[in-house]
Amino acid sequence: MTTPISEGAPSGAVRPHRVLVLNSGSSSVKYQLLDMHGHARLATGLIERIGEKTSRLTHTPRPGDGGEPRTRSGPIADHDEALKAAAGELAADGLGLDSPELAAIGHRVVHGGLRFTEPTVVTDEVLTEIERLVPLAPLHNPANITGIRTAHGLRPDLPQVAVFDTAFHTTMPESAARYAIDADTADAHRIRRYGFHGTSHAYVSRRTAELLGRPPEDVNVIVLHLGNGASASAVAGGRCVDTSMGLTPLEGLVMGTRSGDIDPAVIFHLKRVAGMSTDEIDVLLNRRSGLVGLCGDNDMREIRRRVDEGDERAALAFDIYIHRLKKYIGAYAAVLGRVDAVVFTAGVGENSAPVREAAIAGLAELGPVVDGDLNAVRSREPRLISPDHARVAVAVVPTDEELEIAEQTFALVGRSGTPSGQAGPPLGQADN
Ligand code: ADP
Repeated sequence: MTTPISEGAPSGAVRPHRVLVLNSGSSSVKYQLLDMHGHARLATGLIERIGEKTSRLTHTPRPGDGGEPRTRSGPIADHDEALKAAAGELAADGLGLDSPELAAIGHRVVHGGLRFTEPTVVTDEVLTEIERLVPLAPLHNPANITGIRTAHGLRPDLPQVAVFDTAFHTTMPESAARYAIDADTADAHRIRRYGFHGTSHAYVSRRTAELLGRPPEDVNVIVLHLGNGASASAVAGGRCVDTSMGLTPLEGLVMGTRSGDIDPAVIFHLKRVAGMSTDEIDVLLNRRSGLVGLCGDNDMREIRRRVDEGDERAALAFDIYIHRLKKYIGAYAAVLGRVDAVVFTAGVGENSAPVREAAIAGLAELGPVVDGDLNAVRSREPRLISPDHARVAVAVVPTDEELEIAEQTFALVGRSGTPSGQAGPPLGQADN
């Protein structure tokens, strides 16, 4: 039976319309408080180096509206202390977590496996399921769980909603999601393509349809999320049909420090011939590869500066990065059959005109074309950078994962005050 996690607001009371979004990492917490009437950002914050002596909290009230950042340094022992410190900063601005205007807390959760296809109100059963997925995301899910437990401790009466990075990709057909390995082994160990950055791909593909002035159901989009981590997805009529990250975020595009696609036999070779351990290879492929492995830098601004100065290593790293991007654009054009737009997002995608230009160069036969002047414009707004005559539009759409998490959270709990899609009794109230 579904048990409501919170009762509807008493008549005459303020209808809760704020959502706190928490992105809890292993040693950091990012937070944003959003007002869902008009989507105003009331405050943002970042707590870094949790557990160290040099922890730092940066809190910005009313970002984008003249709010000055406040920074506090000094040891913050754990996530509990970190969230209490954030709550203190919010309270100092009259935005305390005890506010009746707070509707819910939305949490980014990295891995939802096949179990979680939608945002979900966290119950004890849901938390147990997220724990079962820890082997698939050993660095992320434990931190996300800690964030949920801590937030629940601060406001036990409030719905905690988990929004999963993998959820948007659960619509992929089996032909795209399955690896061609022994099926029993794959099933026994839950090995398949899950994909990540799903919140971003969902938000950006929807905003792209808006930009084109068409309903998402009618639009096919290739989304290129190019941050430090990078992933591509093929989205047909609002549903993901393929994505470049796989069992883990290591597969696919060349990234800041990750290799993306390689022949898996490279790993056996490194073990047998170079005598490297599994952990050493893990570090090599996740932290010492990609752009940093190729040229020593992972910041695209620095790489472009070096390319412009004639640095050959940086130029080769850039070319490898672009070559991989082009391969995925071509592959996803084939997967989709018809493409309406190629869209760039995240730090590199939103800011690097040279990456956008180079990735689309030579693809005119396929449809997408970049206009040099439009591409050079710097803006925080979603925009087209292709000429009117292009058969396939090229767009830049700044991602906003926090807003997407807040919207999904609010859609689940905000309207009725009674969440749907909930499994089992509320968090902390199970019999066991
Ligand atoms: P993540 O969330 O994965 O850490 P971001 O989406 O914030 O990554 O992207 C960070 C990356 O964006 C930086 O490493 C840098 O390469 C790139 N970047 C940021 N600003 C610019 C810029 N003005 N020009 C080119 N690249 C940029």
